[in-house]
Amino acid sequence: MEKQGLRCRRLVLVPCPLQGHINPMLQLGSILHSKGFSITVAHTQFNSPNTCNHPDFVFLPLLSDDSSSARNDSDDFVVFLSSLNLKYKASLQELFTRIVEEQERHEGLPCIIYDALMYSVEEVAHSLKLPSIILGTSSAISWLAYFAYPRLREEGYIPSQGSKSMGLVPGLHPLRFKDLPLYDCKNEDRILELTATLRNIGTSSAIVWNSIDCLEQSSLSQLQQQFRVPNFSIGPMQKMAPTSSSSLWEEDHSCITWLDKQTENSVIYVSFGSLATLDEKELAEIAWGLANCKQPFLWVLRSDSVHGSNSADSLSDDFKETVGERGCIVDWACQEQVLAHRAVGGFFTHCGWNSTIESISEGVPMICSPILHDQRVNSRYISHVWRVGIELENGLEREEIEKAIKKLMVEKEGEEFRQRAANLKLKAELCIQKDGSSYNSLNKLVELIMSV
Ligand code: UDP
Repeated sequence: MEKQGLRCRRLVLVPCPLQGHINPMLQLGSILHSKGFSITVAHTQFNSPNTCNHPDFVFLPLLSDDSSSARNDSDDFVVFLSSLNLKYKASLQELFTRIVEEQERHEGLPCIIYDALMYSVEEVAHSLKLPSIILGTSSAISWLAYFAYPRLREEGYIPSQGSKSMGLVPGLHPLRFKDLPLYDCKNEDRILELTATLRNIGTSSAIVWNSIDCLEQSSLSQLQQQFRVPNFSIGPMQKMAPTSSSSLWEEDHSCITWLDKQTENSVIYVSFGSLATLDEKELAEIAWGLANCKQPFLWVLRSDSVHGSNSADSLSDDFKETVGERGCIVDWACQEQVLAHRAVGGFFTHCGWNSTIESISEGVPMICSPILHDQRVNSRYISHVWRVGIELENGLEREEIEKAIKKLMVEKEGEEFRQRAANLKLKAELCIQKDGSSYNSLNKLVELIMSV
């Protein structure tokens, strides 16, 4: 991507400090840097990005008296967000003030780009008269699912339709009640408060989505109607951005050497992202599903994947002997490279939005086992709208896993999934090419940034 003149306007990015949020934010930073903007990243000290990977960016730490780095794999996500927003507000105020004071007169005011979940940024930016733009890092459809909560409650569907209900959600076809992200948090008032906060974008000038029109046109249009400011979908961002990793952990590249030895489309890649945790029983079910399917597999098993123990230690010797060289297990992989590898023929995934969009971008069909938050919504779309994946309907259960892997990797039906995934990949590629929807949206975003 060539630089279009010397814009030099300073953009201050405020990511939410989780891997799945840091990636798209730094990708957006790289895209906009390539368009001539200067990039500053205001980041928390826990989960701070690896500055060496982005030598052109300025990184400024946000300080807080409370340095706890609450993990957020359960009910507590809403609490985690509210404490995060509260904890860093003062530091954001101080940092933005300093940036404005140090700014040369001719440079103009910096524009702030913040993760939608870092909602307190808007108030701070507004108090200093700084323009701000929101980045939404989840799927558009998952936002609509969150926003439907007050209506569904008012109409009496919630709580009467519980978290296991197969009933279709009115207005959100083909989502079922069990697909909704809301059931992770048991406190209704907190959910209502969060949805109201996210809906109220204050004085922010625009919203950027890491999504693609060809995937989510209808959901994106509905969001455009709800938020009256311009919405720009410029995904898949990892394809729009010049490559540089924003991984928080060291990537194990030895898995690429292992993949090089495997035949085309033979490997099932398994990863449940950066946050999801399993219990020992679920771990054993996945392990034996993989062992029994007889396909080669590459499994990302974070050392903290299993509650209360080191994950690799929880795997039995019997399992290790059975799979031998057929399985490669790593702590953390270079996922984009893995998905782009010719040997990878399927992705057994938790359906985090980044993983979903990365898999679609590489034309890799999926086996879906959503665990929390928006993952169930994404899973439903992967399996029932785009039809590029098989959803495990009964949780993590070895026979179902084995069957799904065989169906995807060996049986005739798997070919149909692969073909649809290849078609979707082509469509996504067209979106980022000249005059494609993401290409055009990016140019409009650049114009907007220059005008605010
Ligand atoms: N990822 C990675 N290496 C791994 C597993 C995941 O680099 O071994 C990256 C992956 O490419 C994606 C991000 O971590 O960009 C995970 O984001 P996602 O939204 O899929 O899931 P989350 O971690 O937020 O649940």
